[in-house]
Amino acid sequence: MSYQYDLFVIGAGSGGVRASRVAASKGYKVAVAEGSALGGTCVNVGCVPKKLFVYGSEYGHGFDEAAGFGWSHKGVKFNWSVLRDNKNKEIERLNGIYGNLLGNAGVELISGYASFVDEHTVMVDGKTYTAERILIAVGAKPFIPEFNGSDLVVSSNEMFFLEELPKKALVVGGGYIAVEFAGILNGLGVETSLAYRGDQLLRGFDQDVRDFASEEYSKSGIDVRLNTDVESIELADAANPNGVRVVHFKGGHAEEFGLILYATGRVPNVASLALDKAGIKTGKNGAVIIDNNFTTSAKSVFALGDVTDNIQLTPVAIKEAMALIAYWFDGKEVDFDYDNIPTAVFSQPAIGTVGLTEQEAEKRGLDFRVYQTDFRPMKHTLSGGTSRSLMKLLVNNTDDKVIGAHMVGDYSGEIIQGLGIAIKAGATKADFDDTVGVHPTSAEEFVTFSAASLKKK
Ligand code: FAD
Ligand code: NDP
Repeated sequence: MSYQYDLFVIGAGSGGVRASRVAASKGYKVAVAEGSALGGTCVNVGCVPKKLFVYGSEYGHGFDEAAGFGWSHKGVKFNWSVLRDNKNKEIERLNGIYGNLLGNAGVELISGYASFVDEHTVMVDGKTYTAERILIAVGAKPFIPEFNGSDLVVSSNEMFFLEELPKKALVVGGGYIAVEFAGILNGLGVETSLAYRGDQLLRGFDQDVRDFASEEYSKSGIDVRLNTDVESIELADAANPNGVRVVHFKGGHAEEFGLILYATGRVPNVASLALDKAGIKTGKNGAVIIDNNFTTSAKSVFALGDVTDNIQLTPVAIKEAMALIAYWFDGKEVDFDYDNIPTAVFSQPAIGTVGLTEQEAEKRGLDFRVYQTDFRPMKHTLSGGTSRSLMKLLVNNTDDKVIGAHMVGDYSGEIIQGLGIAIKAGATKADFDDTVGVHPTSAEEFVTFSAASLKKK
């Protein structure tokens, strides 16, 4: 049977762009359908605009800290619309670059939302397209629980386009997006509360990192409220739907906020795909079920990235696309290493982490030791700032290999990338000790840990 395309990709985000571009450059006839803007979540409402906002908000603390270095900043003002609009221009530029990348590789771009007709056919705007292989790379979308007043909150998607900043905001959730946006709002001068339902923010991260980061967020001015749940939300003035909201917390307390952000997770974006028409099975939250080679229950259909609800990170979706390409073109069975994926939370201060947490190492029954330090970064000797940095290294006693590295503090995302290489390469504590430090930096602490820093268990 002959098809119009060798490959039809649904979704031009992190994974879909990479898969379609590389497959086309290898000679496949490829089309990609995209219902929204090119580049997907990361480029339009994720990593990139978020990082630009983080940069913007860091100046809020920077101006205060500059006084100790001799700068006077009287009269400094922040204009939200300048940051938002400059960000929009940069994202439009990136959308154009993505269009060029696809076009230059020979990928046919089809604008619109695709849905399945059968396991070799999709439909976009009433037109059908057939392909030998179809790749689902539709990503995920924000999840907001339903309750009385849940229509009065926003998700991270809307945060990138706000008309104006509120005076006072509530962020609900305790994961990546919640702590990153709490930092952004706080840095931009918004009175910010962060409400999390559990005992400590950032479930899944190392416990010392969670405790330390939470304390630092509070010191930076965020009102962190743990074990806090929202009961319902209503408008303060029913005649003003864009006005102040009243949040009723469980336990009876009520409080007014100009904006409420729900950052309570993301779920696979499968609702409009009509997966049943192709016999594609889904699991929890609608995640597309795949085998080790990213193949769904329909042999001609593949899926990767956030829609599979595994690790939701851009470099993971991109690496999965490259692994799938190697499987298709070189017949190489996929052996994706989901261990030791370095990741950063761009909160303020930031968190960098790679490898096992202390709790995971314990759960695996490993014989290991922990080096840990926290200190006042040199910058704050003059800035007057009170923030501290935390560094932590886990070493396996049986072979001396470093099995985990964690940091809370400035530049931790940058630092952890390098440590990710070392850990992936199997570096031992002796290799770390043999490495000459870069002085004066915070990063040098990772190569100067001595017995004095051993954590007592
Ligand atoms: P996506 O990039 O989401 O792409 C899916 C595309 O499919 C979208 O363009 C969508 O419009 C399109 N689509 C959906 N349905 C259809 C359809 N039926 N037909 C046609 N097109 C369709 N990750 C990091 O690594 N670092 C970060 O700093 C980071 N920050 C983030 C910040 C935020 C606020 C968010 C929300 C996410 C962040 N992420 C970050 C996660 C990262 O954005 C995702 O893991 C990544 O984008 C997933 O790529 P993907 O290809 O699976 O899907
Ligand atoms: P996360 O899964 O990281 O966090 C969701 C948070 O919401 C958790 O604290 C969870 O609590 C809480 N929550 C879930 N349901 C409810 C509910 N019904 N009521 C109250 N709280 C609830 O999701 P995010 O939305 O923060 O981010 C999604 C993913 O996107 C991340 O996991 C990450 O992979 C990716 N991302 C990556 C970034 C980066 O690389 N820097 C930045 C932003 C996003 P509990 O822990 O108790 O379940």
